[in-house]
Amino acid sequence: MTVNRMEFREDLGTSSDYLRMAVPMMIRRGIPPTPYNYALWYAHVQNANPELSRSLLDEFPDPQSYDPDKSEALFFEYFVKTYLPNSPRARDLIVNIVTQLTKSVSQSVQGTREYGAVLREAMALFEETVDQQRIQEALGGLFSDTLSLENLNRAFQSELESATRQVERLKKELEQSQYSARIDALTKIPNRRAFDDALDQALATVDDPACLMLLDLDNFKLCNDTYGHLMGDRILEVVGRLLAGLMSDSVFVARYGGEEFTVIVNEDLAAASALAESIRHKVSELRIKRKSTQDIIGAVTVSIGLVRARPGDTRDTLIGRADSALYRAKDGGRDRVVVLDDPRDPDGV
Ligand code: GH3
Ligand code: MG
Ligand code: MG
Repeated sequence: MTVNRMEFREDLGTSSDYLRMAVPMMIRRGIPPTPYNYALWYAHVQNANPELSRSLLDEFPDPQSYDPDKSEALFFEYFVKTYLPNSPRARDLIVNIVTQLTKSVSQSVQGTREYGAVLREAMALFEETVDQQRIQEALGGLFSDTLSLENLNRAFQSELESATRQVERLKKELEQSQYSARIDALTKIPNRRAFDDALDQALATVDDPACLMLLDLDNFKLCNDTYGHLMGDRILEVVGRLLAGLMSDSVFVARYGGEEFTVIVNEDLAAASALAESIRHKVSELRIKRKSTQDIIGAVTVSIGLVRARPGDTRDTLIGRADSALYRAKDGGRDRVVVLDDPRDPDGV
């Protein structure tokens, strides 16, 4: 069942009207006005979810029918669940943990309560009798009840430990999925999404303008046509690894898409320019082997456009200029770096 998240955004007047409708209804049906219950009955008078309204009216027709467990289950179903992660697996796991724990807690509480009652009875007996036989029996009873309570507590303890383990696993899975959403699957370097964030961050640092490189492998289509798509993938992996080795506090690399990469350099243009030239050189020196035959394939080259951020730049304006620089590098014969940093240049503005 999919349940839409319910919203409570009414103004004071409307929410007071709902209050005047919900509370008498709750009183008539003997529903304690706890926060859970109030949320449920508020949603009912708000007509937020017909299915919830039907469940409430069916489950709690009169004061005798109130059951806090049922009420909590509805609250869980209609409110808590909709705030859980999107992944069905993660959601099921959390729901299982919470259901299991709630059951264990209530068993444990019930067990302790019963034990308290047994103790009180035994105390009363000890006060009123000196009959050794009866005292012995009562002590025997207490002893076995103590053992049961111990077992119950032990079970509860292991339930808690298992829940802790499951939550840990879930946390790792969530971290893993958040991580993989920002890493390119083929090259294992940050992807476009991570790059967008990194560039926004770099642009927010006004005092220290960042430099941006756009890199595009030359004649890559021909490379695929000549050596095959798998070999093309392998080249991308190797270039990705080369770039990954440059990552530092001031250098961020990403796969921009296809056979294009990008590098943000939080240093001055001279340093960024030297880095671009060294990347270009290293790529041209790569000798990539075919895994099957160990043949070394021909040289791979890269063209690079490099620009520096200016005050007022957005992600789009900066990338636009880097793209113009890259275009010039292609136009000029490929396997070269073009730096575009002159505002008087028509492409540089
Ligand atoms: P240019 O020097 O002008 O950049 O020429 P090009 O052939 O590199 O440029 P074009 O944009 O015509 O072709 C890019 C090619 O990159 C086409 C596409 O099949 C290939 N490509 C993009 N992504 C991948 C990938 O993930 N794996 C492989 N093997 N090829 C890819
Ligand atoms: Mg391209
Ligand atoms: Mg290309």
